[in-house]
Amino acid sequence: MKRIIKPGTRLILVFILTVVVSGGILTYLSINSISNFKELTEKEVTEEQRLIVDQVSINFQKKLEELAGRFTSFVLKEGEIDWTALKICDTLDFIKNPFVISKEKKFFWPWFMEDLKVNTEEMHSTAFLQDFKKAEKREFQVRNYNQAANYYRASLNHASCKFDSAKSLNALARVNLKMKNNEKAYSYYSEITDKHFSVLDNNGYPYAYYAVLNLLKLSDSTNFIMVIKEIESFLLKLTSGTIPLNNSTAEILTQISNWEFNSRMTDDKQISELEEYIQKINSRIRFINNYGNIIKESLMSGKDSEYPLTLGNFNVINGISSDTAKIVLIDPDLEYPMGFCLELNQIWSGIKKSDYCENTEFEYNINLIEKEESNSQTNNELGFTTEFSSFFPTHMVRISLKDINLVDTYVKRRSWTYGIALVLLLGAMLLGVLLILRDILREKRLSRLRSDFVSNVTHELKTPLTSIHMFAESILLGRVKTTTGKKEYLNIILKETERLKRMINNILDFSKREKGKLEYSFKKVDITALVKSALHDLDYWLVEENFSVHTEIEENVFINADPDALKQAVINLLSNAIKYSRNTKEIFCKLIKEKDTINIVVEDKGIGIPEDQTDLIFDKFYRIGQNRGEETSGTGLGLTVVKEIVEAHNGRVLVESQINEGSKFTIII
Ligand code: ADP
Repeated sequence: MKRIIKPGTRLILVFILTVVVSGGILTYLSINSISNFKELTEKEVTEEQRLIVDQVSINFQKKLEELAGRFTSFVLKEGEIDWTALKICDTLDFIKNPFVISKEKKFFWPWFMEDLKVNTEEMHSTAFLQDFKKAEKREFQVRNYNQAANYYRASLNHASCKFDSAKSLNALARVNLKMKNNEKAYSYYSEITDKHFSVLDNNGYPYAYYAVLNLLKLSDSTNFIMVIKEIESFLLKLTSGTIPLNNSTAEILTQISNWEFNSRMTDDKQISELEEYIQKINSRIRFINNYGNIIKESLMSGKDSEYPLTLGNFNVINGISSDTAKIVLIDPDLEYPMGFCLELNQIWSGIKKSDYCENTEFEYNINLIEKEESNSQTNNELGFTTEFSSFFPTHMVRISLKDINLVDTYVKRRSWTYGIALVLLLGAMLLGVLLILRDILREKRLSRLRSDFVSNVTHELKTPLTSIHMFAESILLGRVKTTTGKKEYLNIILKETERLKRMINNILDFSKREKGKLEYSFKKVDITALVKSALHDLDYWLVEENFSVHTEIEENVFINADPDALKQAVINLLSNAIKYSRNTKEIFCKLIKEKDTINIVVEDKGIGIPEDQTDLIFDKFYRIGQNRGEETSGTGLGLTVVKEIVEAHNGRVLVESQINEGSKFTIII
């Protein structure tokens, strides 16, 4: 048997199918796109990180080149070393340990005495030497310090150069110390530090070194301020290079520090100045110890150097195990090769200042770490470690997301957005289906009501037509003899035709309204007369059916209205009251004038209206009678017409009703 699916059901099925299929596809796509999204985001993170690291490397290289250029332009004037500039160039924040190498591959700057053997013997005059040797004999063999002192003084008198003077002053100071003649010893030593500070003895030691050490020993509360002054000027001369450095300078600096000048001094500025001198000198000595040989070797090996890196004019020495965070730059092609040091941390802090995350979607941490350290860091997809400069192969850059959970949060947020959008979409689709379903049901009900309407109208027409036919025939066939009888029959025919007219008017008006063709013509209307006339029109039926009518009609009520339409509305209410009354045949009709409105009330004691249908009765074609098996006839258009007319007058219709108690309709305009 062939199963026939109704068009409505088919439409619903198609819709449900569409919702299910498209919902399914959308869900599948969303899940797919979310998992792709995670991958894409991680890829984006890695790409951004690569770009940033590249930028960091480029900036780092640029910074190095810039610093090298700045050093050269500061220190070299027309290809010649500007010594004044060189000596103060380490006050520039980036330059560490500037140096100049002599042709003999020795340190010109800082001035450092490497071979201590210097023969000063031939520099002395013979007259001086004669006395000096006699004095030495008295001092070391005879141990007659007085006589020794006398001969040393004589040698001082014969001194013909600074070497003579420094040598005899030093001996005088020494022999006076032996005689416990401290004051004299002190004055000789201070003369050395004042006048002959740069003179070396035949061991290559500056006399000033002996003098300073002994001045420290000779210091007491009386000469303390003087000693401080001597030390200060000694340190200044070491710093400025007028007294050379050598392998024992560090030891002297330790002695000075141990002397605890800082606990004896009160001037903080002076203390920090002395400490600064000591630090500076120590750093130079350390630099020469660490790098001296390497620098010299690199100069000797020339182009086959094991340090092939270059930066501008400079050869670069890097990766010195004691100090991997430092590079030494040497310009070997100058008459006096010169160079300086750069410290990684300092350059790094300079280039780190620029904001690499300015144009990126995510924020990153960029850190400098040592290679060994980098092994302990896991390389996951949200961060990695890589080399960034060939000058610092032992150091790496580590880049990672500032917020490790960021990608997950991102994905979660996106999932929620998709989820919500999907639910909304499906909801909207479902709502669409429900609305269509409702419309279909409504259309179905309406078509049922319409078909009921046709049979109702037929029935409605038939009853009055039958009586008209019957009464007219009776008169025609002469069955009614009396004039009163004839009149009565004709009256019935008239009333039935009036009823027919009213009904047809209702249908015609409704149809016109449906097409939007009905127009109202408003004018000032005597409502009192209108209501009375409506009652009068139905007089016949009221009497016929034995109704008792209670009226309460205010006089002289005027409003602007379409009189025919409004009367039709009142008649419709009255005829319903007649139609739907059973045993208690009572009708109340009132016209009440309120402050701003007029109320027309039609009330009966009839069958009443179920509460849940008080709204439906105003729908077109709707009849309750059909459902509750009443026999009253009707078209289901009476109240529809009432409502439309009243609304056209800017009014409304109220219903109060109780089953088997009666109904009350109020027109409020
Ligand atoms: P009709 O009277 O032609 O059926 P109406 O639109 O005038 O159509 O009324 C719709 C329905 O409302 C009626 O079928 C009837 O069941 C109910 N109704 C209207 N007036 C009354 C009333 N006064 N008392 C009880 N029921 C009423």
